[in-house]
Amino acid sequence: MRTLRINLDAIVHNLDVMRARANGAKVMGVVKANAYGHGAIPVAKTLERAGVDYLGVADVREALELRDGGIQSPILAWLHDPADNFETALTANIDLCVANLGQLQRIAKAAAVTSVTAKLHLKIDTGLGRNGSTEADWTELLEAVQALGESVSVIGIFSHLSTTSHVEDLAQIKKFDSAVAEVKRIGLTFEFRHLTASDGSLAYPEAHYEMVRIGAALYGLDPFSTNRSAEFGLIPAMTAVSRVAQVKTVPAGHGVSYNFLHRTEKETWLALVPVGYAEGLPRAATGKAEVSISGKRYAIKSQIAMDQFVLDVGNDPVQVGDEVVIFGDASLGVPSADDLAAAAGTINYEIVTRMGGRFQREYVGEGL
Ligand SMILES: *Cc1c(COP(=O)(O)O)cnc(C)c1O
Repeated sequence: MRTLRINLDAIVHNLDVMRARANGAKVMGVVKANAYGHGAIPVAKTLERAGVDYLGVADVREALELRDGGIQSPILAWLHDPADNFETALTANIDLCVANLGQLQRIAKAAAVTSVTAKLHLKIDTGLGRNGSTEADWTELLEAVQALGESVSVIGIFSHLSTTSHVEDLAQIKKFDSAVAEVKRIGLTFEFRHLTASDGSLAYPEAHYEMVRIGAALYGLDPFSTNRSAEFGLIPAMTAVSRVAQVKTVPAGHGVSYNFLHRTEKETWLALVPVGYAEGLPRAATGKAEVSISGKRYAIKSQIAMDQFVLDVGNDPVQVGDEVVIFGDASLGVPSADDLAAAAGTINYEIVTRMGGRFQREYVGEGL
């Protein structure tokens, strides 16, 4: 009755598109937040079979779930909480971000206990103001890493852009280069540098370094939320569909759903769709979002509720059981995640990552 149809072939295609653009740099597939709502294990398996170089997640717990699911690719986890168990992470061969001395000390301890060499990616905050070492603390952090000798191995040096503007991003790229120069000055060796996510990888080919970290684009989402997936050659991988659960005729002047935001203008047919904000359909999209039935668009004019919304379909021959596309691939004529995001005042990332509730995921395509 409520399905998130995930096209694994689209994900493989998008990986190929981004790999071609990466110009020889490695590609990390970012599968945090349940692969942006697409299902972490099936997506990671697909990416692994398609030859992704690395996988990236926020939490160690997400990385462990991938290992439990049989994923063998290198995995980097970059957002640690004070309760994270680094011993388990090292034993499971998970690369760890280091953003400060406290984290480094905990990881070093875990390396000593497990006798596993910790694979580190040192993160410098080049201006975003989020995770990562400050420039002021960077040298001290590098020296502390160096003092640990062979119990740690530095795989990566990385940072993250704000994509506020060209000027701001170029300033961050410059700071990143200085931070890397400092690593070299100290004599610490590392394998590769990585800076850009989907947006930066499309906007700054000169800043791909040795690896790019790609999330949104893998799922066929325009990372700028400007509805230009097709322009970038990307295919949206998620289609959210439901089925009409009830159709009935009502007279003119009939109120529809809470607060009667919509009243029928004439005798008309109402179609009930069993998807609500519990499924991740933003209530804020009421009055603005459109869905598609048999190729025709219908605005959601009445209040989106927890479990359902109602469409005024006029005299159209809509039937119980008809498929309702809430969003999908715009090039097929249906609304996109970008359209729904615009209706709800947010970005496509938030739309797909919040899809859940009673939706069930169905996988189509071979993945290879
Ligand atoms: C989420 C995330 C990414 C991926 O970003 P996209 O815009 O989805 O490509 C890359 N790097 C870091 C540090 C992230 O948190």
